[in-house]
Amino acid sequence: TAGQTGKHITLLHTNDMHARAVEATSGEMGFAKVAGIFDYYKSKNPNTLAIDAGDAIHGTTFATLVNGESVVAAMNKMGYDLMVPGNHEFNYGSARLIELAGKLSFPMLSANIKGLGAKRIFEPYIIKEIDGVKIGIFGLTTSETVYKTHPKNVAGLYFADSSSEAQTIVDELKDKTDVIIAVGHLGQDESSFDTSSRVVKEVAGIDIFVDGHSHTVLEDGLVSDNGTLIVSAGEYTKYVGVVDIWVENGAVVKKQATLINQAEAADIAPNAAVAEIVAATLKSQETILAEQVGESAALLEGTREKVRASETNLGNLLADALIDISGADVALTNGGGIRASIDAGPITKGEVITVLPFGNQIVTLDVTGADIKAALENGVSDYPNAKGAFPQVSGIAFKIDKDAVKGERVHSVTIGGKPLDDAAVYTLATNDFLAAGGDEYTMFGKYPQAGMYGALDEALIAYIQKLGKANPTIEGRITEGAKP
Ligand code: ATP
Ligand code: ZN
Repeated sequence: TAGQTGKHITLLHTNDMHARAVEATSGEMGFAKVAGIFDYYKSKNPNTLAIDAGDAIHGTTFATLVNGESVVAAMNKMGYDLMVPGNHEFNYGSARLIELAGKLSFPMLSANIKGLGAKRIFEPYIIKEIDGVKIGIFGLTTSETVYKTHPKNVAGLYFADSSSEAQTIVDELKDKTDVIIAVGHLGQDESSFDTSSRVVKEVAGIDIFVDGHSHTVLEDGLVSDNGTLIVSAGEYTKYVGVVDIWVENGAVVKKQATLINQAEAADIAPNAAVAEIVAATLKSQETILAEQVGESAALLEGTREKVRASETNLGNLLADALIDISGADVALTNGGGIRASIDAGPITKGEVITVLPFGNQIVTLDVTGADIKAALENGVSDYPNAKGAFPQVSGIAFKIDKDAVKGERVHSVTIGGKPLDDAAVYTLATNDFLAAGGDEYTMFGKYPQAGMYGALDEALIAYIQKLGKANPTIEGRITEGAKP
């Protein structure tokens, strides 16, 4: 901006990269290009900060095969100044997260994650002095983490209210700094309580809120009633956010935001050192991922909108694999745990791990018919809207009356072809996330584990190997219909 007075600071930001390390035609730029964009802006203005708002280290085999370490190595070379842990950062357990944070060459910040004795497990904020301007930056992490990851991953931790923590930090920073930046993996999902929108409404004095979690694309940012500029850069390295800030006499006098996408960055060179790390990691994983385990006669459907709202052939194949390995009467697994589709033709190990990246175990529980019914009700509580809890089943058929009230939608349930008996006890195979009460399957949480059958991805691989050529279909296990 010509003629703008004051010190010019550039803030670069990413969020919800979900380990999208490589460039793709779907608009994902990959780590090397993102780093190249950072380099470009840093060459134009040395007074530049680069920040990530969480959900970086989990989501593809690039990350999961080494429990996040490859992303840490890449991010160390990308030129970040700090990051905030998102809910997916906990997917390898909190001990692993703390270990990875120790391997980062920049700080991981979060003010509201606490452990024993209400002690914070990360530093809440840092103050960076750039060209004489004091910038206070603090982190916040969504409290949804407690039910969006396996309970064991957050055992002993609690997430304090993000808004009151933000107030505490702002009070502490306001006299010590010229600029206050919040970095929150909170998001703007209207169905959620814990949002960036709420924090900026309840807490005055935040100049910029760098958001993540809801994968929101804010082209020019949003300005709240309190004057906070909220920015968010979509997902999967599809955008780098750029915020220009001018500071004069200890205050921000102008701020403006934009996003840079793949097309706009076409002429910017990728960072060579980051490209090298990414290529070396991919090379080391090539052989294991390329191993063929069988083939599929059709596309195996794992698209988010489908697998979280309806029976799909991939859901059926996976639920059948649970029965095959455990011999249980019924199987139920959450659609939200199925993270990708598999195309027709040869199926590789890499494709299976991409579908099932959470490292889940298979367990059986001896449950009552009444609790199976309650579980199905929980799974379809948002139907016809998509929800992670949506059940993919085997050995069970049922109907959903979408016009009935919540909790009374499921009817005509059969188990092995016979009507469900509320009082009977059935052996149910599921994943350890749901067995522990994840996705609000609290009715499962009370049962002791009756049996353990190894890793979920390995069971699917074994089942495909056994079938040779998988050809699952949609059989009408889950259908819509009014109550008789
Ligand atoms: P983002 O991916 O940006 O953080 P998010 O975490 O809110 O968004 P989802 O992609 O909806 O969201 O992931 C949450 C869902 O993932 C849960 O509702 C659940 O269905 C599934 N999930 C999370 N952890 C596990 C796990 N360990 N095992 C099985 N499923 C899981
Ligand atoms: Zn998230």
